[in-house]
Amino acid sequence: MAIKTKWLVSHACGHQETHDLGGKPADKRAGYAAWLARTDCRACWQASRTPSKEWLAEQAAELDTWETTAEMPPLEGSEKAVTWGRQCRHDLLVGAYSALVTDAADLDDDSWLAQVEIPARRIGRASWWIDNRDTDTVDILELLEVAQGDETAGICENPA
Ligand SMILES: [Zn+2]
Repeated sequence: MAIKTKWLVSHACGHQETHDLGGKPADKRAGYAAWLARTDCRACWQASRTPSKEWLAEQAAELDTWETTAEMPPLEGSEKAVTWGRQCRHDLLVGAYSALVTDAADLDDDSWLAQVEIPARRIGRASWWIDNRDTDTVDILELLEVAQGDETAGICENPA
């Protein structure tokens, strides 16, 4: 009788997950499944990992580089809000760039600059970026247009 390749494992965290052990020798699968049962499932394992200092430093460096390249001015707000707002602005705009320019080719680089990057530079309030962090990339053009007349965005006509 062939030894099964798909094993439903009850993990230590309480979740069940099916594992394909087809890559393991048939006589090792039961032992491997027993070992898996003593570990957390993939989602819990990932959630429990605390980001390393190196990883955080890398993220911070990437953010700095992006802000310099995109000429994004500093944000206003409390220290906490600024930290989070910078990340939100980066994630939103980088996501929109790949969706609108790289993937869909809806915009070329000049239109991206005129319709997204320049209006985005004027929005100085960290809280505005935090509030709008979940905006769909397809809505970003409209969002930025509306923001230009929105007091809560902290519009600055000539960002440094
Ligand atoms: Zn789990």
